[in-house]
Amino acid sequence: MIIILCVLGYILNKINSIGYGHKIIGLMGSFLAVIPILFYILHYFFQLSFFLVFIYVSLVIGFLISIFFIGLLIIEFYQDKNINKQYSIIKKTKLLLNNGFYECQSCGNKKVGKNDKNCDVCGIKFTSDRLE
Ligand SMILES: [Zn+2]
Repeated sequence: MIIILCVLGYILNKINSIGYGHKIIGLMGSFLAVIPILFYILHYFFQLSFFLVFIYVSLVIGFLISIFFIGLLIIEFYQDKNINKQYSIIKKTKLLLNNGFYECQSCGNKKVGKNDKNCDVCGIKFTSDRLE
């Protein structure tokens, strides 16, 4: 299961739950709490057994939405971990600019010289050059 989600993390675009998370949580709350409580109240007053079926169906849908949301969160955390790992490598490098100077990838200082081993502004120690 986790392996499948990690593979999906590579294939899919970057997922950000900030954009959709509240909507899914709202749906989960509706199917896991609001709808079952409404049907429970209806069942209490009218004593019709098919209201209980609606409660179970709603709980199953809510459970499936929960599983889907947890899967998306696992994919997102995995993507964030990879991005963070890539950034931690890149930030210790300097990038060649058109004017012959280099840019520190940690703080953005654009006055780093070719032979500088450290950034004068943030003090980070460069591990390698990126000549892109
Ligand atoms: Zn710097």
